[in-house]
Formats: sequence, C-alpha cells, structure tokens
Amino acid sequence: MLNENTIAIIKSTVPVLEKYGTDITKRFYQLLFTNHPELLNVFNQTNQQKGRQQTALANAVYAAAVHIDNLAAILPVVKQIGHKHRSLGIQPEAYPIVGENLLAAIKDVLGDAATDEILQAWGEAYGVIADAFIGVEAEMYKETEDQAGGWSGFRAFRIDRKVQESDVITSFYLVPQDGKAIASFLPGQYVTVQMKIPGEEYTHMRQYSLSDSPDKPYYRISVKREDSRAKEPAGKVSVYLHESLNEGDELLLSAPAGDFILDQAGTRPVVFIGGGVGFTPLMSMMQTVLANQPERKITFIQAAQNEQVHAMKAHVQELAEKNDQLSVHICYEKPLSQDRTVNHYDHEGFIDAKYLKSVLPSEEADIYLCGPVPFMKAVYAALQANQVPTQRIHYEFFGPAGSIGA
Ligand code: FAD
Repeated sequence: MLNENTIAIIKSTVPVLEKYGTDITKRFYQLLFTNHPELLNVFNQTNQQKGRQQTALANAVYAAAVHIDNLAAILPVVKQIGHKHRSLGIQPEAYPIVGENLLAAIKDVLGDAATDEILQAWGEAYGVIADAFIGVEAEMYKETEDQAGGWSGFRAFRIDRKVQESDVITSFYLVPQDGKAIASFLPGQYVTVQMKIPGEEYTHMRQYSLSDSPDKPYYRISVKREDSRAKEPAGKVSVYLHESLNEGDELLLSAPAGDFILDQAGTRPVVFIGGGVGFTPLMSMMQTVLANQPERKITFIQAAQNEQVHAMKAHVQELAEKNDQLSVHICYEKPLSQDRTVNHYDHEGFIDAKYLKSVLPSEEADIYLCGPVPFMKAVYAALQANQVPTQRIHYEFFGPAGSIGA
C-alpha cells in the first residue's frame, strides 16, 4: 500500500508524464538494452524501431500514474499485457531490472526536475505496479501449466502441413513433436513463435493468432509474408516462415494466450470484420460459432486489397453455402477483375459507414474487428457513425496496444 504522500507525488507527475512519457520510455529502452542485451531476445525490435513499444509503455505508465490510488481500474490493461508477458516467458526477476532502468530514464529525461522525493515515490509506486503484474502473470502461468495439454516455456512443434491461402498468406498446421495432447484455447487467442534465424544474433518472438477452431488436434497459424516495400526491409519472421521452413520442420511455440476472445455465451448476432491478415482470429471465432451456436446469426466481412491476396475465399464461401446462419461479404480496395459474378465481391474501395449500414444486422450485434491500424480506425469510426454502442465493439491490434478512437 502506498501512503497518501506518495500517491499525491505520483499524481503530481501526471502532467509531466503526459508531456515527456515517450521521451522517458525511449530512454528507458536504450538503457535496458545497453545494460541487458540478453533482453533483445525477448523484445520485438521492429516495434522498437517503429516507436510502437515506447508509445505503448508510455501509455501504460501514464494510466498507472493516473490510477495509482485504484489500480483495479487498469486491471484489463494489466491482464492484456500479462497475457503477452506470459506468452513471452517474462519472469518476476525481470521486474526489478525494468524498475531500475525506468527510474534511471526518468532521471535522465527530467534532470533536476526529478527530485529525490519524486524518484523515491516512483520507486515505491513501481514496486506496487510490478506486484500487480507479477500476481496476474503468476496465475496465468499456473493456469497454462495445469490445463490438460498445457505446458510452460516453449514446446517443439512440427509443421505437418503448409498450405498457400493467397498470394501472400500461408497456413501452417502445427502438431507437437512429443505426440502428446495440446492445450485447448479460446477462439481469438494467439501463440508466440520463438524463432532462431540463421545469421541473426538474437532470437525473434512473434505472435500469430490461431486461425482454426479449438477442437482440432493441431494449431493452425496463417501468416502474411511481409515483403520489402520502398525503404522498408522485408519482415524477418514471416519471410523466413514462408521461404525457409517447410513441412517436417520444427517451430517453437508457447501456449495459447490473449484476451481478444469470442464471448461464447453471447446470443446476439455476431459480426466479424477483418482487414487483410487480420481475419485470422475472426476465422477461429466464426468457425466456433458455426460449430456450437447454430441459432446465432453471423455476418462475416472480409476486406482485402484484391482477390489475389484474399485468403481462404473458397473455404469461407463453402461455409456460407452450407450454413444459413452465415452471411459473407467481401470488400476489395481495388479488385483486379470487375466481374462480380466471378469475383463475388460486394463492395469496392474502403469500408465506410454507408456500406456498413447496408450489411449490419438490424438487431444489436457483437462486433469483432481486426486488421491494419488505419483500417481499424476507419471501421471503428464507421461503426460509431451507425450508432453501434462502444461496448459492443471488440478489437485487437497485431502489435503493441494502440488507440483506435479519434
Ligand atoms: P518484422 O521484421 O517485424 O517487420 C514488420 C514490418 O515492419 C515489415 O513490413 C517491415 O518491412 C517493417 N519494418 C521492419 N523494420 C523496419 C524499420 N526499421 N523501419 C520501417 N519499417 C520496418 N501476423 C500474421 O501474419 N498472421 C496473424 O495471424 C498474426 N496474428 C497476430 C496476433 C497478435 C496478437 C499480434 C501482436 C501480431 C500478430 N501478427 C500476425 C503479426 C506478427 O506477429 C508479426 O508482427 C508479423 O508477421 C511481422 O513479423 P516479421 O518478423 O515478418 O516482420
């Protein structure tokens, strides 16, 4: 428990955090990786280079400062980050290291403004925040290990099948090398792949949503090949998976994690809106509703740049033909063929409020959304323009948590 004085000091630093939050977190990561280069094996360096991780951490520190007298208010955020930490294998020992470097970064950035009193208050507050994370994560580790087919750390899987789903997306069907059972998962969850790429000094960790329903004897991930564009280099792990790994090869996975999950008790109609490779967690959710809730109306909206990069099109169409509860809508930004009788798309261009109005069910529905950040922002705004209540909209970023609203 923090005393009132400490709480007051932390709260007094909120405006400073608002202004200098990302400067502090940028400095923090510089110090962290200089002092502990082994952590480069854990943190996604692309997110670092793009500044996404620094922004996400700054937002989390800011939220913790604002709610320092009632950390329960940020429990959903703690849980979301806890899932990621559990899937990366972050242990309690990491927290003092982070605390030490965070305080050093505050000192470096704020200079004389970071008085001993402020640093001491932040030291104490960090201890309380760290304990909240450690407690949540300890429960998650235990749950994962106790679950039938569960495991701790990284387990060896074999690529049983590698299936091309579009010009850029390929699915990998993964079975455990030990031949034993695999943990079930909640539709929408992801696994973390730990990848050692020949010639690379550090290990890479990447999350991939499980794209099939949980009732299968394998895990399926569907990965978009991130080719190089203009000045951007090719994606490391996705390109290695596509080009260098084949059926029979091994992949290391931690157990499924994540809080972007289908409400399976829900009875309202459900709408899935996926952009590009963001359709993957939604496929798992959609197939789960088909399997378990035959009465629940499903609207599945899949957006892609064009028909060549549209994954699992034939499979989804077949599902719609077999299941009256499922209606499928396809949006192409720039279709290569304008012949809709062959190409089966019903909207050209970006998804907007008018188009959504034409396909959303008339009853209040649960909406699940995933795709590139600009896509999610546009669709979120379009949903709001259609008076969809915010609490009905669930979404996930394929990267550090960000903000979806205006
Ligand atoms: P990286 O090497 O990480 O690069 C990513 C992109 O950044 C590339 O386009 C690259 O060109 C660009 N880039 C790299 N360095 C720089 C730089 N210095 N400056 C500018 N640009 C740069 N992906 C899927 O395909 N399928 C999924 O189902 C899926 N599910 C996910 C679920 C979650 C919860 C999360 C967090 C992510 C998910 N992802 C998924 C994304 C996935 O984890 C990887 O981020 C993605 O595969 C790219 O990894 P990479 O190593 O290939 O690319």
